[in-house]
Amino acid sequence: MCILCKDNEAVKINIANIIFLHYNGKDKYSVIKGRTVGVTMNMIEAKNLVFEYIRRDEEGNVESIHRAVDEVSLDVKKGDFVAILGHNGSGKSTIAKHINAILLPSEGTLVVNGIDTKEEDRLWDIRQSAGMVFQNPDNQIIASVVEEDVGFGPENMGVPTEEIWKRVEDSLKAVGMYEYRTHSPNKLSGGQKQRVAIAGIMAMRPQCIILDEPTAMLDPNGRKEVIRTIRELNKTEHVTVLLITHYMDEVIEADKVIVMDDGKVVMQGTPKEIFSQVDKLKQYRLDVPQVTELAYELKKEGIPLPDGILTVEEFGIEIKKLI
Ligand code: ADP
Ligand code: MG
Repeated sequence: MCILCKDNEAVKINIANIIFLHYNGKDKYSVIKGRTVGVTMNMIEAKNLVFEYIRRDEEGNVESIHRAVDEVSLDVKKGDFVAILGHNGSGKSTIAKHINAILLPSEGTLVVNGIDTKEEDRLWDIRQSAGMVFQNPDNQIIASVVEEDVGFGPENMGVPTEEIWKRVEDSLKAVGMYEYRTHSPNKLSGGQKQRVAIAGIMAMRPQCIILDEPTAMLDPNGRKEVIRTIRELNKTEHVTVLLITHYMDEVIEADKVIVMDDGKVVMQGTPKEIFSQVDKLKQYRLDVPQVTELAYELKKEGIPLPDGILTVEEFGIEIKKLI
């Protein structure tokens, strides 16, 4: 129970040496030595993160150094849905691999759920806090029956059998795949497979999921299914989401959008703030949603429309005002 608000449901969590007493979705409080202080609890915090891929010849001499992430500072608050946008090669996957401590910073720091990823003995805690979903669902599904696949993660973590089945059920329901629990993953569509992969991560009860272009290999329907699922998990299960994508329309409902180019964070803001800057986005080789582009072109032709129209509904409302 939280000693501040007496909430029985509040989860007690520890971060570094400070005891945080309350976490219920998006409201955060902490008590430090009995004093209440307002804190913003970040799930992910990168400070001046640098990563260089170093190529060596057979004798171990450095042949080339490529700076894939260049002085990146960013944070993702607990409970938020944050999207990272960027053209190919901008460093998005390299950052994702840092969050799961697959890669360690060349310079700077990355803190995940209060743990510096350089703390080797906390690797397990880091990976349990932040689950990763990749592009290709076929590489992530291992079992021949859906429910077994979803149970694989918690089983590996040593979760008791009864609890595993509960988690499998909850996770499959959360991604809308419960009715397929006894099916073979091979027979599922790409979007369904990706939802099973997400359920497999959810069954490990992470506080955060990082999805690295999870829809890149899917058809438009599959893409929609997956994005809807991710949004639902964020809203109803309060899972922090970091979605990496190059599809603009997938980030419209994010709390925050981070744009990367050539290893650097070049823009940060709400979707509206970001999509108001069509020229800048184009400079970073990114397209804006079709309706945003249309409104932008009309505005250039002298039609008085506001910047950053993101949806067809919004566009309709603004056009009606002009008639
Ligand atoms: P993104 O995910 O945005 O497409 P990446 O993080 O995969 O970008 O890559 C960032 C840069 O690092 C690119 O220039 C890429 O060529 C380079 N890179 C990625 N992986 C490696 C690697 N294993 N070795 C050398 N360079 C790499
Ligand atoms: Mg990538």
